Amino acid sequence: MFQLEGILIEKDFIGILCNCLQRMKEILTNGIDRKNVEDFINEFNSYVILSKNVKYAKLLSNIEGKVTNIKCAVKYKPTRIKNKIYNVETDNMLISDNENDFAMYKSRFTIYNGLSLYIKSKDYIYPPDWRREIKIEFVNFLLNKCRSEEEIIRKYLSEKGKYKFLIFTIEQPNGKSVNIGIRLARYTFDQEKITFLNNTKFSLLSIDSINPKQLCIRGGGDTELRSKKILVIGCGSIGGYLIEQIAKSGIKNIEVIDDDVLKEVNIYRHVLGMEYVGRYKSEAICEYIRKNIPHINIVGTQTTIEEALEDGSIDLNNYDLIISAIGNHNINRWLNEYIHKFNIKSVIMYLWNEVLDIGNHILITNNQHVGCYECLFKLDDKDEIFDRTSYCKNGQNYTVQMQGCGSEYLPYSSTHSLRIVTYAIDLMKKIFYEGLEYNILFSVKGTDYYFKKLGYVTSNRFNKQSDNIKILKGEKFMQNECEFCGKFQ
Ligand SMILES: [Zn+2]
Repeated sequence: MFQLEGILIEKDFIGILCNCLQRMKEILTNGIDRKNVEDFINEFNSYVILSKNVKYAKLLSNIEGKVTNIKCAVKYKPTRIKNKIYNVETDNMLISDNENDFAMYKSRFTIYNGLSLYIKSKDYIYPPDWRREIKIEFVNFLLNKCRSEEEIIRKYLSEKGKYKFLIFTIEQPNGKSVNIGIRLARYTFDQEKITFLNNTKFSLLSIDSINPKQLCIRGGGDTELRSKKILVIGCGSIGGYLIEQIAKSGIKNIEVIDDDVLKEVNIYRHVLGMEYVGRYKSEAICEYIRKNIPHINIVGTQTTIEEALEDGSIDLNNYDLIISAIGNHNINRWLNEYIHKFNIKSVIMYLWNEVLDIGNHILITNNQHVGCYECLFKLDDKDEIFDRTSYCKNGQNYTVQMQGCGSEYLPYSSTHSLRIVTYAIDLMKKIFYEGLEYNILFSVKGTDYYFKKLGYVTSNRFNKQSDNIKILKGEKFMQNECEFCGKFQ
């Protein structure tokens, strides 16, 4: 009744009451007929929480199915008692097989050794009856299911220590895994039978599993993508948001290349704020991600992509996906040439914004398909190179005016970058699930409001495009003359 998420509430009181009574009747009838007995398994932890003498533990690592030594950190809180401050133990604790996990939580802890045990049960193991005092028989019943680990249990319980922690992962017959923990304060046990005697003092631990996999699933991330490795070139406005969203999508391994330093003028369009001004963006983003999204392997290098490739410190074949968020046509063309020259097999995605919110583009290529970055450019009738994808009419100069009003920065740039990042993340997932069948140019038309206000003219491409998004296959924009992917190369 208190679980309101995803439930529509009828405003009329009588309606709610009737609904409740109807539900109650159903639950009770099914209970008597034992039809809903699995509810106890599916909501195992909710029943543990109701028990008397329960403490709360967050399980930070994945110990399911493992019999292993673990660490249990009991939280303390400074408390004033009669004008003196004492560190008083709280009912909250953290559990992990890696002590370093505790550092994410900035609290005072005392750390104890614990043991994680695994039970694969043929019959359902129900939570203890919360209405009654939990007896030591329940603990002995669980221990009895772990007889194959007798030696390990005996050794652990024979060690000295104020507290002992036994964490059980129970795999139920319906495949669902549940966790329950026991904290033993004072105990006596029968060495031979590994059975606790009646005078043993213990508490139950209600366990909230927030290991990397669980966190990722609950947050809408995708655990299938976890092992992928991505290189992000450029950590500006697009790159910063992109890296954050890659991490939140569930991908664990990220490398970042950027040699620029974060300045005050960047912060209205950068994921990082004042806290990081004066720091290298590629170093600061790593710190930001590590502090806020646990269990991500992120490495930043303070150099340019040209230098990193020339000195051999990175190998582009080592990544499942390379994303250039540098937004610079000259560097991207150089990169495209490099990829073709050295036959790099990885998929590469280029993202760039056009000026004044007029639009943005994503090009996804790999060197086995036609339509590469170089194909986006052509010579005009004055033999000047121009960008065929652009929504701005060729031959206009933005840089001068843009610098002329240097202090009038563009506050909408931030959402402009966020928009292209959202599309890029969707496309990234699509590539990981389905592969890249052909190269794609994905163009998003923006608003021409700011653009026209400053007297600029939009391109034919902008004027002709009726939908917001235009997707072109490589064969549609490739140039036969292209020196890298063309027919006449
Ligand atoms: Zn080409």
